[in-house]
Amino acid sequence: MKVRYTFRAYPTDSQTQELSRVFGHSRFVYNWSLRLRTDAWANGEKVNYNQSSAALTALKKTPEHAWLNEVSCVPLQQGLRNLQTAFGNFFAGRAKYPRFKSRRDKQSAEYTTSAFKYENGVLSLAKLGKLKIKWSRPFTSQPTTVTISKTPSGRYYVSLVLDEVPLSYPKTGESIGVDLGISRLATLSNGERIPNLRFTRTYEKRLAKAQKSLSRKTKGSGRWNRQRAKVARVHEKIADARKDHLNKVTTDLVKRFDVIAVEDLNVRGMVRNHKLAKHLSDASFGRFVSMLEYKAIWRGKQVVKVDRFFPSSKRCSCCGYVSQKMALNIREWECPACHTKHDRDENAAVNIRNFALGQSVNAHGADVRPSVA
Ligand SMILES: [Zn+2]
Repeated sequence: MKVRYTFRAYPTDSQTQELSRVFGHSRFVYNWSLRLRTDAWANGEKVNYNQSSAALTALKKTPEHAWLNEVSCVPLQQGLRNLQTAFGNFFAGRAKYPRFKSRRDKQSAEYTTSAFKYENGVLSLAKLGKLKIKWSRPFTSQPTTVTISKTPSGRYYVSLVLDEVPLSYPKTGESIGVDLGISRLATLSNGERIPNLRFTRTYEKRLAKAQKSLSRKTKGSGRWNRQRAKVARVHEKIADARKDHLNKVTTDLVKRFDVIAVEDLNVRGMVRNHKLAKHLSDASFGRFVSMLEYKAIWRGKQVVKVDRFFPSSKRCSCCGYVSQKMALNIREWECPACHTKHDRDENAAVNIRNFALGQSVNAHGADVRPSVA
Protein backbone atom coordinates (compact mmCIF):
# COMPACT_ATOMS: atom_id res chain seq x y z
CA MET A 1 0.00 0.00 0.00
CA LYS A 2 1.37 3.41 -1.00
CA VAL A 3 1.77 5.83 1.89
CA ARG A 4 3.37 9.22 2.29
CA TYR A 5 5.33 10.00 5.43
CA THR A 6 6.60 13.49 6.18
CA PHE A 7 9.56 14.37 8.38
CA ARG A 8 11.17 17.61 9.44
CA ALA A 9 14.54 18.27 7.76
CA TYR A 10 17.39 20.49 8.93
CA PRO A 11 19.60 21.42 5.96
CA THR A 12 22.98 23.04 6.59
CA ASP A 13 23.64 26.60 5.43
CA SER A 14 25.25 25.48 2.19
CA GLN A 15 22.42 23.00 1.57
CA THR A 16 19.91 25.78 2.19
CA GLN A 17 21.62 27.86 -0.51
CA GLU A 18 21.68 24.92 -2.89
CA LEU A 19 18.01 24.18 -2.15
CA SER A 20 16.97 27.73 -2.87
CA ARG A 21 18.64 27.26 -6.30
CA VAL A 22 16.80 23.96 -6.83
CA PHE A 23 13.45 25.51 -5.83
CA GLY A 24 14.07 28.57 -7.98
CA HIS A 25 15.13 26.57 -11.04
CA SER A 26 12.23 24.12 -10.65
CA ARG A 27 9.79 27.00 -10.35
CA PHE A 28 11.30 28.67 -13.42
CA VAL A 29 10.95 25.49 -15.49
CA TYR A 30 7.39 24.92 -14.29
CA ASN A 31 6.32 28.47 -15.11
CA TRP A 32 8.19 28.47 -18.41
CA SER A 33 6.47 25.25 -19.44
CA LEU A 34 3.08 26.52 -18.28
CA ARG A 35 3.60 29.61 -20.45
CA LEU A 36 4.61 27.42 -23.40
CA ARG A 37 1.56 25.23 -23.04
CA THR A 38 -0.80 28.15 -22.44
CA ASP A 39 0.43 29.95 -25.59
CA ALA A 40 0.03 26.74 -27.58
CA TRP A 41 -3.43 26.18 -26.19
CA ALA A 42 -4.43 29.73 -27.19
CA ASN A 43 -3.44 28.72 -30.75
CA GLY A 44 -5.57 25.60 -30.56
CA GLU A 45 -2.62 23.23 -30.03
CA LYS A 46 -1.79 20.86 -27.23
CA VAL A 47 1.70 20.26 -25.90
CA ASN A 48 2.22 16.90 -24.21
CA TYR A 49 4.82 15.84 -21.67
CA ASN A 50 7.29 14.48 -24.23
CA GLN A 51 7.15 17.68 -26.25
CA SER A 52 7.68 19.89 -23.20
CA SER A 53 10.53 17.63 -22.07
CA ALA A 54 12.21 17.96 -25.49
CA ALA A 55 11.72 21.72 -25.36
CA LEU A 56 13.41 21.80 -21.95
CA THR A 57 16.41 19.85 -23.26
CA ALA A 58 16.74 22.36 -26.09
CA LEU A 59 16.37 25.29 -23.69
CA LYS A 60 19.15 23.99 -21.44
CA LYS A 61 21.51 23.94 -24.45
CA THR A 62 21.11 27.66 -25.12
CA PRO A 63 23.83 29.85 -23.53
CA GLU A 64 21.23 32.12 -21.84
CA HIS A 65 19.76 29.17 -19.97
CA ALA A 66 22.90 27.14 -19.31
CA TRP A 67 22.43 27.99 -15.60
CA LEU A 68 19.61 25.45 -15.51
CA ASN A 69 22.32 22.76 -15.57
CA GLU A 70 23.59 23.89 -12.15
CA VAL A 71 21.04 21.70 -10.38
CA SER A 72 20.02 18.04 -10.67
CA CYS A 73 17.85 17.56 -13.76
CA VAL A 74 15.46 15.27 -11.89
CA PRO A 75 13.43 17.90 -9.94
CA LEU A 76 13.13 19.93 -13.17
CA GLN A 77 11.74 16.91 -15.03
CA GLN A 78 9.42 16.11 -12.11
CA GLY A 79 8.09 19.68 -12.33
CA LEU A 80 7.12 18.98 -15.95
CA ARG A 81 5.46 15.72 -14.90
CA ASN A 82 3.48 17.48 -12.18
CA LEU A 83 2.37 20.08 -14.69
CA GLN A 84 1.28 17.24 -17.00
CA THR A 85 -0.84 15.83 -14.14
CA ALA A 86 -2.29 19.29 -13.43
CA PHE A 87 -3.30 19.62 -17.10
CA GLY A 88 -4.73 16.10 -17.06
CA ASN A 89 -6.90 17.07 -14.09
CA PHE A 90 -7.92 20.30 -15.79
CA PHE A 91 -8.93 18.60 -19.04
CA ALA A 92 -10.88 15.97 -17.08
CA GLY A 93 -12.79 18.77 -15.31
CA ARG A 94 -11.38 17.83 -11.88
CA ALA A 95 -9.35 20.99 -11.34
CA LYS A 96 -8.94 24.61 -12.37
CA TYR A 97 -6.45 25.71 -14.99
CA PRO A 98 -2.89 25.36 -13.56
CA ARG A 99 -1.53 28.60 -12.15
CA PHE A 100 1.94 30.08 -12.06
CA LYS A 101 4.08 29.41 -8.99
CA SER A 102 5.33 32.26 -6.87
CA ARG A 103 8.35 32.36 -4.60
CA ARG A 104 5.93 33.39 -1.83
CA ASP A 105 4.21 29.98 -1.98
CA LYS A 106 5.43 26.79 -0.40
CA GLN A 107 8.52 25.69 -2.35
CA SER A 108 9.14 22.11 -3.31
CA ALA A 109 11.25 19.82 -5.45
CA GLU A 110 10.66 16.16 -6.18
CA TYR A 111 13.36 13.51 -6.54
CA THR A 112 12.90 10.06 -8.06
CA THR A 113 15.05 6.99 -7.29
CA SER A 114 17.85 7.95 -9.67
CA ALA A 115 18.47 11.18 -7.73
CA PHE A 116 18.44 10.08 -4.09
CA LYS A 117 19.83 7.33 -1.93
CA TYR A 118 18.36 5.97 1.28
CA GLU A 119 20.41 3.54 3.33
CA ASN A 120 20.46 2.73 7.05
CA GLY A 121 18.51 5.82 8.04
CA VAL A 122 20.58 8.18 5.91
CA LEU A 123 18.99 10.09 3.04
CA SER A 124 21.18 11.76 0.40
CA LEU A 125 19.91 13.86 -2.49
CA ALA A 126 21.74 14.47 -5.79
CA LYS A 127 24.09 17.47 -5.58
CA LEU A 128 23.00 18.10 -1.96
CA GLY A 129 24.46 15.18 -0.06
CA LYS A 130 23.31 13.81 3.28
CA LEU A 131 20.38 15.58 4.90
CA LYS A 132 19.82 15.85 8.62
CA ILE A 133 16.30 14.54 9.25
CA LYS A 134 14.24 13.96 12.36
CA TRP A 135 12.91 10.44 11.71
CA SER A 136 9.74 10.64 13.80
CA ARG A 137 8.35 7.23 12.80
CA PRO A 138 9.77 3.96 11.56
CA PHE A 139 9.25 2.52 8.09
CA THR A 140 10.40 -0.71 6.52
CA SER A 141 10.41 -0.18 2.75
CA GLN A 142 12.59 1.76 0.32
CA PRO A 143 11.15 5.18 -0.71
CA THR A 144 10.15 5.56 -4.37
CA THR A 145 9.90 9.36 -4.39
CA VAL A 146 11.33 12.04 -2.11
CA THR A 147 9.90 15.55 -2.03
CA ILE A 148 11.73 18.28 -0.19
CA SER A 149 9.77 21.41 0.65
CA LYS A 150 10.10 24.72 2.43
CA THR A 151 7.12 26.37 4.09
CA PRO A 152 6.56 30.15 3.92
CA SER A 153 7.79 30.40 7.53
CA GLY A 154 11.10 28.78 6.57
CA ARG A 155 10.75 25.19 7.81
CA TYR A 156 12.00 22.30 5.71
CA TYR A 157 10.30 18.93 5.30
CA VAL A 158 10.98 15.77 3.35
CA SER A 159 8.09 13.54 2.40
CA LEU A 160 8.70 10.01 1.23
CA VAL A 161 6.38 7.85 -0.84
CA LEU A 162 6.68 4.29 0.44
CA ASP A 163 5.14 0.95 -0.32
CA GLU A 164 4.40 -0.33 3.16
CA VAL A 165 2.76 -3.57 4.28
CA PRO A 166 -0.26 -2.69 6.46
CA LEU A 167 -0.03 -3.78 10.10
CA SER A 168 -3.49 -4.58 11.42
CA TYR A 169 -4.55 -3.68 14.94
CA PRO A 170 -5.88 -6.60 17.00
CA LYS A 171 -9.65 -7.13 16.73
CA THR A 172 -11.60 -6.00 19.78
CA GLY A 173 -15.11 -7.15 18.82
CA GLU A 174 -16.38 -3.64 19.61
CA SER A 175 -18.33 -1.23 17.41
CA ILE A 176 -19.15 2.44 17.90
CA GLY A 177 -21.34 5.20 16.48
CA VAL A 178 -19.87 8.67 16.08
CA ASP A 179 -21.97 11.83 15.97
CA LEU A 180 -19.90 14.75 14.72
CA GLY A 181 -20.82 18.08 16.23
CA ILE A 182 -20.09 21.76 16.43
CA SER A 183 -19.85 22.41 20.15
CA ARG A 184 -17.67 19.32 20.48
CA LEU A 185 -15.83 17.34 17.84
CA ALA A 186 -17.74 14.12 18.44
CA THR A 187 -20.10 12.27 20.75
CA LEU A 188 -19.78 8.49 20.85
CA SER A 189 -22.59 6.00 21.25
CA ASN A 190 -21.03 4.82 24.53
CA GLY A 191 -21.46 8.31 25.96
CA GLU A 192 -17.86 9.48 25.57
CA ARG A 193 -17.38 13.07 24.50
CA ILE A 194 -14.45 14.26 22.41
CA PRO A 195 -13.89 18.02 22.66
CA ASN A 196 -12.82 20.34 19.87
CA LEU A 197 -9.61 22.20 20.21
CA ARG A 198 -10.62 25.81 19.72
CA PHE A 199 -7.40 27.06 18.20
CA THR A 200 -8.96 29.82 16.24
CA ARG A 201 -9.97 31.78 19.32
CA THR A 202 -6.66 31.31 21.11
CA TYR A 203 -4.64 32.18 18.04
CA GLU A 204 -6.96 34.75 16.53
CA LYS A 205 -5.59 37.58 18.66
CA ARG A 206 -2.01 36.59 18.01
CA LEU A 207 -2.73 36.31 14.30
CA ALA A 208 -4.54 39.68 14.16
CA LYS A 209 -1.65 41.35 15.97
CA ALA A 210 0.93 39.82 13.63
CA GLN A 211 -1.10 40.77 10.55
CA LYS A 212 -1.64 44.34 11.74
CA SER A 213 2.08 44.72 12.32
CA LEU A 214 2.70 43.32 8.83
CA SER A 215 0.36 45.85 7.24
CA ARG A 216 2.33 48.72 8.81
CA LYS A 217 5.60 47.61 7.23
CA THR A 218 6.83 48.51 3.76
CA LYS A 219 6.04 45.70 1.37
CA GLY A 220 9.17 43.90 0.25
CA SER A 221 11.42 45.33 2.99
CA GLY A 222 13.52 43.16 5.29
CA ARG A 223 11.22 43.87 8.27
CA TRP A 224 8.18 43.06 6.16
CA ASN A 225 9.68 39.73 5.11
CA ARG A 226 10.52 38.79 8.71
CA GLN A 227 7.00 39.72 9.85
CA ARG A 228 5.49 37.77 6.95
CA ALA A 229 7.35 34.69 8.20
CA LYS A 230 5.90 35.30 11.69
CA VAL A 231 2.35 35.38 10.30
CA ALA A 232 3.04 32.18 8.39
CA ARG A 233 4.34 30.52 11.58
CA VAL A 234 1.08 31.25 13.44
CA HIS A 235 -0.89 29.74 10.53
CA GLU A 236 1.35 26.67 10.56
CA LYS A 237 0.96 26.27 14.33
CA ILE A 238 -2.82 26.26 14.01
CA ALA A 239 -2.71 23.70 11.20
CA ASP A 240 -0.25 21.47 13.10
CA ALA A 241 -2.28 21.49 16.30
CA ARG A 242 -5.49 20.65 14.43
CA LYS A 243 -3.90 17.82 12.53
CA ASP A 244 -2.30 16.47 15.68
CA HIS A 245 -5.63 16.43 17.53
CA LEU A 246 -7.45 14.68 14.68
CA ASN A 247 -4.63 12.14 14.37
CA LYS A 248 -4.79 11.26 18.06
CA VAL A 249 -8.58 10.92 18.11
CA THR A 250 -8.83 8.85 14.92
CA THR A 251 -5.98 6.51 15.85
CA ASP A 252 -7.58 5.91 19.25
CA LEU A 253 -10.96 5.05 17.65
CA VAL A 254 -9.40 2.67 15.11
CA LYS A 255 -7.47 0.92 17.88
CA ARG A 256 -10.48 0.43 20.13
CA PHE A 257 -13.24 -0.41 17.65
CA ASP A 258 -13.59 -2.85 14.74
CA VAL A 259 -16.57 -1.08 13.15
CA ILE A 260 -16.90 2.70 13.29
CA ALA A 261 -20.15 4.25 12.05
CA VAL A 262 -20.30 7.89 10.97
CA GLU A 263 -22.77 10.06 9.13
CA ASP A 264 -21.99 10.68 5.49
CA LEU A 265 -21.89 14.47 5.83
CA ASN A 266 -22.23 16.92 3.03
CA VAL A 267 -19.52 19.15 4.42
CA ARG A 268 -19.34 21.34 1.35
CA GLY A 269 -23.00 22.23 1.62
CA MET A 270 -22.62 22.94 5.33
CA VAL A 271 -19.61 25.20 4.92
CA ARG A 272 -21.64 27.37 2.55
CA ASN A 273 -23.61 28.43 5.60
CA HIS A 274 -21.24 31.15 6.80
CA LYS A 275 -22.35 31.19 10.42
CA LEU A 276 -21.36 27.57 10.73
CA ALA A 277 -18.33 27.81 8.49
CA LYS A 278 -15.79 28.93 11.08
CA HIS A 279 -16.77 26.28 13.62
CA LEU A 280 -16.90 23.61 10.96
CA SER A 281 -13.46 24.39 9.61
CA ASP A 282 -12.27 24.20 13.21
CA ALA A 283 -13.86 20.82 13.63
CA SER A 284 -12.54 19.67 10.26
CA PHE A 285 -15.29 17.08 9.70
CA GLY A 286 -14.19 16.04 6.24
CA ARG A 287 -10.64 15.52 7.33
CA PHE A 288 -11.75 13.57 10.39
CA VAL A 289 -13.76 11.12 8.27
CA SER A 290 -11.05 10.68 5.64
CA MET A 291 -8.42 10.07 8.34
CA LEU A 292 -10.70 7.47 9.93
CA GLU A 293 -11.23 5.80 6.57
CA TYR A 294 -7.59 5.45 5.57
CA LYS A 295 -6.54 4.35 9.04
CA ALA A 296 -9.31 1.76 9.08
CA ILE A 297 -8.17 0.33 5.73
CA TRP A 298 -4.59 0.45 6.94
CA ARG A 299 -5.34 -1.26 10.25
CA GLY A 300 -7.86 -3.87 9.12
CA LYS A 301 -10.92 -2.12 10.60
CA GLN A 302 -14.13 -0.88 8.99
CA VAL A 303 -15.76 2.54 8.61
CA VAL A 304 -19.46 2.48 7.70
CA LYS A 305 -21.08 5.66 6.42
CA VAL A 306 -24.76 6.18 7.17
CA ASP A 307 -26.88 8.20 4.74
CA ARG A 308 -27.02 11.81 5.92
CA PHE A 309 -30.81 11.96 5.42
CA PHE A 310 -31.27 9.36 8.12
CA PRO A 311 -33.03 11.18 11.04
CA SER A 312 -30.38 10.27 13.62
CA SER A 313 -31.20 13.14 16.01
CA LYS A 314 -35.00 13.01 15.87
CA ARG A 315 -35.34 9.31 16.43
CA CYS A 316 -35.59 7.60 19.82
CA SER A 317 -32.84 5.00 19.95
CA CYS A 318 -34.87 2.89 22.41
CA CYS A 319 -38.29 2.52 20.75
CA GLY A 320 -37.81 3.98 17.24
CA TYR A 321 -40.28 6.87 17.70
CA VAL A 322 -39.44 9.70 15.28
CA SER A 323 -40.28 13.20 16.46
CA GLN A 324 -41.45 15.62 13.76
CA LYS A 325 -39.28 18.57 14.64
CA MET A 326 -36.23 19.17 16.71
CA ALA A 327 -34.65 22.62 16.90
CA LEU A 328 -30.84 22.75 16.92
CA ASN A 329 -30.74 24.29 20.40
CA ILE A 330 -32.49 21.33 22.05
CA ARG A 331 -29.70 19.37 23.72
CA GLU A 332 -31.84 17.00 25.80
CA TRP A 333 -35.27 15.54 25.20
CA GLU A 334 -37.68 12.96 26.49
CA CYS A 335 -39.26 10.45 24.12
CA PRO A 336 -43.07 10.97 24.21
CA ALA A 337 -43.63 7.28 23.44
CA CYS A 338 -41.32 5.42 25.85
CA HIS A 339 -40.32 8.34 28.15
CA THR A 340 -36.60 7.69 27.87
CA LYS A 341 -34.54 10.82 28.55
CA HIS A 342 -31.95 11.44 25.81
CA ASP A 343 -28.84 13.49 25.36
CA ARG A 344 -29.35 14.67 21.79
CA ASP A 345 -25.88 13.81 20.43
CA GLU A 346 -25.46 10.55 22.31
CA ASN A 347 -28.87 9.37 21.07
CA ALA A 348 -27.83 10.28 17.53
CA ALA A 349 -24.57 8.36 17.90
CA VAL A 350 -26.45 5.26 19.13
CA ASN A 351 -28.80 5.48 16.13
CA ILE A 352 -25.87 5.81 13.74
CA ARG A 353 -24.22 2.75 15.26
CA ASN A 354 -27.43 0.69 15.21
CA PHE A 355 -28.17 1.58 11.63
CA ALA A 356 -24.70 0.71 10.56
CA LEU A 357 -25.00 -2.67 12.20
CA GLY A 358 -28.39 -3.24 10.60
CA GLN A 359 -30.08 -3.55 13.98
CA SER A 360 -32.67 -0.84 13.53
CA VAL A 361 -36.18 -1.39 14.89
CA ASN A 362 -37.52 1.53 12.90
CA ALA A 363 -40.34 0.65 10.50
CA HIS A 364 -39.14 3.43 8.20
CA GLY A 365 -35.68 1.97 8.14
CA ALA A 366 -36.14 0.38 4.73
CA ASP A 367 -35.40 3.57 2.84
CA VAL A 368 -32.12 4.17 4.67
CA ARG A 369 -29.14 2.48 3.12
CA PRO A 370 -25.98 2.22 5.12
CA SER A 371 -23.13 2.26 2.61
CA VAL A 372 -20.03 0.28 3.42
CA ALA A 373 -16.92 2.37 2.83
ZN1 LIG B 1 -38.75 6.11 22.76
